[in-house]
Parts: sequence; C-alpha cells; structure tokens
Amino acid sequence: MSLCSVSIDLDAIECYYRIHALGPAPRALRHVIIERCVPRAVALFAKHGINVTWFVVGQDVDVANDASAVASATVMEQRAAAGDELANHSHRHRYELARLDAKTIRDEIVTADRVLARLAGQPIAGFRSPGYDVSAVLFDVLAELGYQYDSSLFPAPGYYAAKAAVMAALAALRRPSGAVMTNPRGLLAPIDPYRPAMTAPWRRGDAPFVELPISVTPWARLPAIGTSLLVAPAPLRRYILQTMAQREFFNFELHGIDFCDASDDEIAPELVARQPDLRLPWSQKADRLDAMLTQIASTSRRVTLQSAALTLQQRW
Ligand SMILES: [Zn+2]
Repeated sequence: MSLCSVSIDLDAIECYYRIHALGPAPRALRHVIIERCVPRAVALFAKHGINVTWFVVGQDVDVANDASAVASATVMEQRAAAGDELANHSHRHRYELARLDAKTIRDEIVTADRVLARLAGQPIAGFRSPGYDVSAVLFDVLAELGYQYDSSLFPAPGYYAAKAAVMAALAALRRPSGAVMTNPRGLLAPIDPYRPAMTAPWRRGDAPFVELPISVTPWARLPAIGTSLLVAPAPLRRYILQTMAQREFFNFELHGIDFCDASDDEIAPELVARQPDLRLPWSQKADRLDAMLTQIASTSRRVTLQSAALTLQQRW
C-alpha cells in the first residue's frame, strides 16, 4: 500500500495580498486562516481519522511578541496534542527567503523553530520554504537544526509558467507581485522522495535529511495539490488521485485558504476576484475534499510527513 501525507501550509491572507499586489491586507483578516479555516479542516480530517502536518508561519503563533496570536497559538497547540505534526514554514513567510543573506535565512528558520517547538512540546522535524524555493544556505540551517526532512520542492513546470504569467502581468501594470520567481533548477528535481545534495538541493546527494517533493504526476508533472484539484473538473481530479495512488508516496499539499469561505470569513471582493478557489463556497469545497480523502483512504496509508520521512528511508 502506498503512503500519503496530507500537509497544510498556513499562509495568512496577507500572503495572498502580497502575491496579487493588493497592498496591505485588512487587519481584521490577520488570523482568519488559523482561527476560522483550521477548525473546518480539523473536522474534516477527524472524519477520515487522519493526522496531518501543519506548516506554520512562526509569527502567526508567536505569543511572546504578538498578543493577538494567542487564539491561533492555542489552536495549533491543540493540534500537536492531538497527534498532528507542526512543521516550520519560516517566521515571516518572505517569498524571497532563499535569496536573502545567510544571517537572515538562519533567523527566519531558527526563530520559527523555537516558537513552534514550544507549542508542539517536542523538536520540529521538517521545513517547507515559502514559494517552494531552497538554497544551499537554507539547507545548511536545516542540517544544523537536525531536521529529518525538507518538503519545499515542487517540480511542476505548469505552476512555474502560471506564476511567471501572473508576475509579468502585474509588472506590466507597474504593480510588482510580492511573489518571487522560483529557481528553475528546482523543476528538474526528482518527483519522488530522495536524499538531496547539500549544495544543489534539486540533485541527489548525501544530505543528513530527505527531500519530500510536493507531488506532481509522472511525465506530465501536473500539480497534485489541493488548490489545483479543488477547481479542476471532477474526472481530472479523480485521474490525478488514481495516478498518485500508484506511486510509493503521495505528498498531498493543501493550503489554509482551501478551507476558507469567502462569504462567512468576510474576504474582500478584491481578493476573491483573483483567487478562483475563493469563489467556491466552503460547503462545495468540503464535498470535493471529502471525496478526495475517501478515494485516498482506499489506496493509501495516511501518515504525517515526519513519519513518511522515517518509513521511506528505512525502505532505501
Ligand atoms: Zn506558504
């Protein structure tokens, strides 16, 4: 039976305002993803009896520096206590992280690590970079922290092309996107888990941790991630999941925004206009996700990414 890990990147609404160059996000939406979307996700995962991996942005749960983060921190603390995995999605979700100087990269990863380890009550084992970009410096920090896996690479040329198109369109309007173009060498990365090289993360090597790339289908490399599948036609959705069931490992990435209801959560129309997935009400997304999780359950053993990293290495 294949393994499947469900992970959810908890990018705040403000991240989407940055990508679409919409200016500062309304303050009222600061904690919508963790306070409102995570509980919907939790109810769905509980129905399917799965423990998932949450990629948390450190500053969103950093109660020592932000009193408004208390409710979010409590939500994530409860997830860890319930057997879910909390993993590191950097401290401030800077899309240009992999291109920053070594000290800033280290600060971004180590600060989030400390905040999350305190909430989880145990060491953090995994990292996912904002914007799917990694570098040798970033890998050095993960090795220093003794991480067991990185799960940042997303070798999907179609995603890369779509992102380039959005960025070019915004640049033409003189409203540069806050997103940063991913290093194209990441597109050449293996699509199945591998031990990466420390100096060239997209190649095989001898890093002390494993790379768990975000899943794409073989050959066509169609993205097998929640945000794409939610808006895909049902037959394509089922085909992609069937294809992934035949792989040894399916790294199924979702985002907190996939569990958003634009109306109930009072998301401004300016953002809804730019995120097609926000035009679906939660009830409809819940039905689609429910069907996807049912299909996955029939073919795969569902484990956290940390557990998958351990199991896969034992098979090598
Ligand atoms: Zn993110």
